[in-house]
Amino acid sequence: MEYFLTEEQEMIKELARQVAEEKILPVRAELDEKEEFPNEIMKIIAQSDFFGLFIPEEYGGLGKGSLELAIAVEELSRACLGVSTTFAANALGTFPILLFGTDDQKKKYLPDIATGKRLVAFALTEANAGSDAAGVQTTAKLDGNEYVLNGTKQWITNGGEAEIYTVIAKTEKGKGARGTSAFIVEKGTPGFSFGKKENKMGIRASVTRELIFENCRIPRENLISKQGRGFIIAMKTLDSSRTGVGAQGVGVAQGAFEAATSYAKGRYQFGQPVISFQAIQHLLADMATQIEAARSLVYSVSRFIDSGAKDVTKESAMAKVFATDVAMKVTVDAVQVMGGAGYMKEYPVEKMMRDAKILQIFEGTNQIQRNVIGQALIKETVKKK
Ligand SMILES: Cc1cc2nc3c(=O)[nH]c(=O)nc-3n(C[C@H](O)[C@H](O)[C@H](O)COP(=O)(O)OP(=O)(O)OC[C@H]3O[C@@H](n4cnc5c(N)ncnc54)[C@H](O)[C@@H]3O)c2cc1C
Repeated sequence: MEYFLTEEQEMIKELARQVAEEKILPVRAELDEKEEFPNEIMKIIAQSDFFGLFIPEEYGGLGKGSLELAIAVEELSRACLGVSTTFAANALGTFPILLFGTDDQKKKYLPDIATGKRLVAFALTEANAGSDAAGVQTTAKLDGNEYVLNGTKQWITNGGEAEIYTVIAKTEKGKGARGTSAFIVEKGTPGFSFGKKENKMGIRASVTRELIFENCRIPRENLISKQGRGFIIAMKTLDSSRTGVGAQGVGVAQGAFEAATSYAKGRYQFGQPVISFQAIQHLLADMATQIEAARSLVYSVSRFIDSGAKDVTKESAMAKVFATDVAMKVTVDAVQVMGGAGYMKEYPVEKMMRDAKILQIFEGTNQIQRNVIGQALIKETVKKK
């Protein structure tokens, strides 16, 4: 289908596909098997200027928007969701600085992020604060000109590998969401260490790790925006990043669809290629239709964000929930189309099916996305009365 991309967007797509096919595809199974962080690939992604895509030109980036980021994420995800998660989590961690940081913070951090010199992570989740993100227990107390952080963050993508961390912590007890604030913490700060590395079902090329803060002192100027704005910063960050998760869904679904179609053309049973059976054609037809629908929604919402729209919460939740449900369904069906071969590690779809599951869980589960959409619908109905 024609998505009316500009010449520049087509070039980004082509370059991302080239990187994915030449550099990621040949090593994706090994990275998955060994649970290895894709250091070399990150260097290539940096050389291709992808880290700078969504960073304004004045801070050393290319000054592009959500759509360009989604296009790059989609193409990387078509080859490997573990690699694309590492790349996308970097954007997630950068959004608090980009959207709410002071000019000094932007000048200090964004140029190195744009060149890929320093990787970023976003740290919200804790053992007792998953979907209930306002329940974070990590504390940040002002002491003179420093904040002192104590607590443990759980399941943080890029944990240990990133150099810069945007961290949500509690600054005032008893105030719930309004008692949280956002901070920038650099790797190497005394009192900041890394704990357990997770052994995961999928996206095994990405690293997921605990962050431990023990009397970790950071300068007061590392507070992002104002004290008490942590929850809003986290929610606005997720509004901006969820189209990226949707793009991951479109990419992995596309990869699985292509692998299944090609296999079905070459696999003969009962004297004919299995793609000639209507049962298989219908599966593939539904997969192709769902992928186009998901891509259309992800691109439209990305364009909506890039238009400068103020409130994108409902739409970005819709893009995330729809495209990631499609990713799960399509990858499961791709295994079905390929029969026993689909279940074997010799083919990529078993990895894609394992990888796709995380998209329905992180950056807010798909149940939570439906809650978000539902709340927005209630608000809209009240406004219209
Ligand atoms: C591989 C991986 C990488 C991650 N990376 C990061 C990261 O980089 N940074 C970060 O901060 N976090 C990260 N996370 C955390 C992730 O965002 C959370 O796992 C997610 O938000 C869900 O929280 P939870 O796992 O605690 O589930 P829970 O909140 O315990 O939910 C359990 C179940 O209950 C449902 N549920 C909970 N509350 C409701 C409700 N109100 N209504 C309906 N259903 C509900 C959920 O949908 C889910 O099905 C990562 C997680 C994983 C697994």
